[in-house]
Amino acid sequence: MGLMKKDGRAPRTAAVAADATMALSGTPVRIDNLSKHFGRRRGKVMALDDISLDFPAGSFTAVLGTSGSGKSTLLQCAAGLERPSSGRVTLCGTDPASVSDRKRTLLRRRHVGFVFQDFSLLPELTVAENIALPLRLDHRHVARAAVENAAERVGLSPAQLRRVPAQLSGGQQQRVAIARALLSRPEVIFADEPTGALDPHTAFRVLRLLRETTDGATGVIVTHDPQVTRFCDRAVFLYAGRVDAVIERPEPDAVAARLNALGERAAAPQELVNASRSMA
Ligand code: ADP
Ligand code: MG
Repeated sequence: MGLMKKDGRAPRTAAVAADATMALSGTPVRIDNLSKHFGRRRGKVMALDDISLDFPAGSFTAVLGTSGSGKSTLLQCAAGLERPSSGRVTLCGTDPASVSDRKRTLLRRRHVGFVFQDFSLLPELTVAENIALPLRLDHRHVARAAVENAAERVGLSPAQLRRVPAQLSGGQQQRVAIARALLSRPEVIFADEPTGALDPHTAFRVLRLLRETTDGATGVIVTHDPQVTRFCDRAVFLYAGRVDAVIERPEPDAVAARLNALGERAAAPQELVNASRSMA
């Protein structure tokens, strides 16, 4: 199948018809009055409470907030991995909740890259096989050159491609997860604490890499690290499922100050929240 261009990069596919809408609006991700709750009655948790945000094409947004403030739920809803309780997500011109499971899966595979905190690499596959997996699942031919190209962009050597994940360091495994997310050249990259398991120096490099290698993609990155926001156009702070503040062109000092203030505000009740979460 001649799906790969000569330079080893996969062409962008126009799988979802409504792409034109996205091109016109320049907003690959849009969230309108999004709420998400879990459980019912007394056990009900409002994970997201009436959130509206636009993520313009090519922008990188850092999402910050204390534990339990709704960051992961926001990403999962925006990426079509969770269904909102109310409100609307528009992802590359399509509301993931309004289409069939199959269309939603295609939307994600073809337009979205998701970098998980725990890397989510398959231990029995080689690094090369892990990187190629999402395209293989989509029955697309994956040229070796494309995998090598993605690996090279994140600084992985051909020799490392033949190893299994356990033979790599945490930082290298995270690079594999990023290369995998980059291979299909997605329009949108979501990353949920992609540097949570890394030392600060490696985290900094990984995030810079993410920004530099995504080729104009729109990024939504959950992080706790103020330094990471250097690579972002905007920092969005969540508190108790709501947008508490937005800082454009964030400076790490301002981000750290805002995070400290949120932490103090959350300190007492958060311990109760965490205690109840740890039983789940
Ligand atoms: P964060 O990523 O900011 O730590 P989450 O989005 O994971 O926060 O969680 C927000 C709130 O929703 C928390 O109170 C959490 O316990 C709750 N929550 C998240 N996922 C679930 C779930 N699957 N079932 C029940 N409650 C959940
Ligand atoms: Mg989380």
